[in-house]
Amino acid sequence: MCNKHGMTEDRALFLSEFFHDIGVFLHFRDDLTLRDTIFLNHEWVTDGVYKVLDNEHVKAHYGHFTDDDLVEIWKEEKYKEKRKELLALMKNRKFELCYELPGGGYLAPNLLPVDEQPYEWRSHQDNLHFEYSYQFMPKGILTRFIVRRHKDIFQQTHWRYGVLLDYDNTRALVRERYFERKLTIMLEGSNKKGFLEIIRKTIHELHDSYNNLAAEEMIPCNCALCRGSQQPHFYRYALLQRYWQNGRPAITCEQSLDDVRIETLIHDVFPQSSVDAALTRDRDIHIHIGDKIGGDKIDATVGAEANNVVVGKDVTQGSH
Ligand SMILES: [Zn+2]
Repeated sequence: MCNKHGMTEDRALFLSEFFHDIGVFLHFRDDLTLRDTIFLNHEWVTDGVYKVLDNEHVKAHYGHFTDDDLVEIWKEEKYKEKRKELLALMKNRKFELCYELPGGGYLAPNLLPVDEQPYEWRSHQDNLHFEYSYQFMPKGILTRFIVRRHKDIFQQTHWRYGVLLDYDNTRALVRERYFERKLTIMLEGSNKKGFLEIIRKTIHELHDSYNNLAAEEMIPCNCALCRGSQQPHFYRYALLQRYWQNGRPAITCEQSLDDVRIETLIHDVFPQSSVDAALTRDRDIHIHIGDKIGGDKIDATVGAEANNVVVGKDVTQGSH
């Protein structure tokens, strides 16, 4: 069916990811701009969104666009009455295709340049490393992460596969290694553990939005050889917890062959409160580190508060 409409694999993926569990229409009950609208036509939505992402002017500006650009891009009859809603849809947590820039205009990070931006680390001495390892890594997880944490971006240091964040005098470089199926995180500064907690929480919420995408959290080794190394050995956090729960306090580093105390490995990465939690109870290590915050619900029932129903060209208005 997707081929019939001339869609590339990426677009088919886009469709399946976003419409997978939704049924036949979209309704964003928690989004103020979108709560009164029900989108009945996926193709209308997808085409509208790709009119922006495929636009040569937007691509030439590496994903930057303005309200004026949108007036031009969505000038057709079937879009121009619903520009506000389409833009809200692109910004919505279910899509996370763009965000509003502080100085005006918008940015779709999946059109950013592909080349990594240089950044000078203040020190390589005690950076904190952390990784996520995926069996299946969906495309666009990093660009969605960028949209979600865009307020922390340091001096617009971002590209299609990475971003530098700044929070509480701490920097974090988050990169996607698609072919290795990894997200890597590297932190420096005075609150590395605190900032890592925030980043992990954001990533876990993203995983939740992909129907609990399975990912392994990876903790770096702290033996004499690995400490300070840019390529330390990584342990699966789940394995460390199994060791601990089975009364084995140490694990062997595959690089140095030294035995390393599990308690210190976890302590080096997580704040004390999390260490206590990690070492006292059996947790679902794949996903949760905290409560969900502010996830948008997509409702597959027609809410009584929805006034607008968008069916392709036809826009039916009226209160139910
Ligand atoms: Zn080691």
